[in-house]
Amino acid sequence: MKNILVINCGSSSLKYQLIDAENKAMLARGLCDRIGIENSFIRQSVNGSKEYRKEVELPDHNAAIKEVIKALTDKEYGVIESLEDIYAVGHRVVHGGEFFKSSVIIDESVIKAIEKCIPLAPLHNPPNITGIKACQKAMPEVPQVAVFDTAFHQTMPKEAYIYALPYEYYEKYSIRKYGFHGTSHQYVAERAADLLGKPLEETRIITCHIGNGGSISAIKGGKSIDTSMGFTPLDGLVMGTRSGIVDAAAVLYIMEEENLSCNEMNLILNKKSGLLGVSGISNDMRDVTDAKDNGNERAELAIKLFNYRVKSYIGQYMALMGGADAIVFTAGIGENNPDTRYECCKNLEFLGIKIDQDKNNKKDDEFEISTDDSKVKVFVIATNEELAIAKETVKLV
Ligand code: ADP
Repeated sequence: MKNILVINCGSSSLKYQLIDAENKAMLARGLCDRIGIENSFIRQSVNGSKEYRKEVELPDHNAAIKEVIKALTDKEYGVIESLEDIYAVGHRVVHGGEFFKSSVIIDESVIKAIEKCIPLAPLHNPPNITGIKACQKAMPEVPQVAVFDTAFHQTMPKEAYIYALPYEYYEKYSIRKYGFHGTSHQYVAERAADLLGKPLEETRIITCHIGNGGSISAIKGGKSIDTSMGFTPLDGLVMGTRSGIVDAAAVLYIMEEENLSCNEMNLILNKKSGLLGVSGISNDMRDVTDAKDNGNERAELAIKLFNYRVKSYIGQYMALMGGADAIVFTAGIGENNPDTRYECCKNLEFLGIKIDQDKNNKKDDEFEISTDDSKVKVFVIATNEELAIAKETVKLV
């Protein structure tokens, strides 16, 4: 049994899953929340049994990890006997900068490199490091692996990742496109190659990860050659609350007119824009769709803009790869919203993309939604970043 503990650490939360990487089964999942603040708790659920929940003081991540181990090994609610049943720990790490082109076994030098990437992900990398250190302390004998959101995109060619700014900013501050959601893009591309019945190396796949955050990637021969998120996750698609592509001059103009600080503008672009900003209703596609159905024009516009942007990228990435064998929709909206999928692929028959609406209205973990004669296969594939992290971890350990 190769049980992998997958950890996703935020500043005040720690999400985890215990996965048997050999048969891909999720044994338990849980959350420690409100770490470092009052009313902290841990909850854990195990397939088919009742939920474990405990209000417990969690002053820091070390305390949280101890509670995770207690919950996993609990006589009544647990799923393993002891720490010896944990084969390795896989950590989701947001930013690996240019240091990491793939996942790595964690040692001191790896932690130092992740620390060097803190300026690139000031909100995410510090808690990721805290989680790693807490696990090392609690489980010194268990190997730890870092799996990066950015690593998969490190194969992009330079012309895809350099911005046409003075080159010195790339050299001085590492300003370039990095891309995110790499674990998800890689996982669904591998699944799509399986569904196509082709070796991944011989495929051209466009993966559309569209949830509250969203990005699209062009994956040629299994390697990311371009992706829509950039230096930060702000770029690219219209998202729940993020603007995606905006003329930088428009941002400067608003700042000047409204007398806004960098922080204030950052908040507007990341938290008040996107579906929420345009519709004025919500960041959640379901709410915006309800409003549109009730005749709200701005909600309708927000959805049109959202789909328009996805479709533009599909065209762009087909041009970059000389066509595509498959397009994949994944994440909250991609997996659950047939209208979005239809609108993003509509009138693309000239590119070999034809959607079968009966298939498109189905619900499943993995299914095809293109017609039998569609040259480009279109799939819905539920992403599973935790399983992908567990598999990477096993591969390395
Ligand atoms: P995150 O980027 O936070 O992981 P998700 O992948 O959970 O986001 O996606 C959230 C989005 O998915 C929301 O806009 C929501 O409306 C949409 N969504 C989630 N579940 C469903 C569903 N069952 N039907 C339609 N839309 C859904």
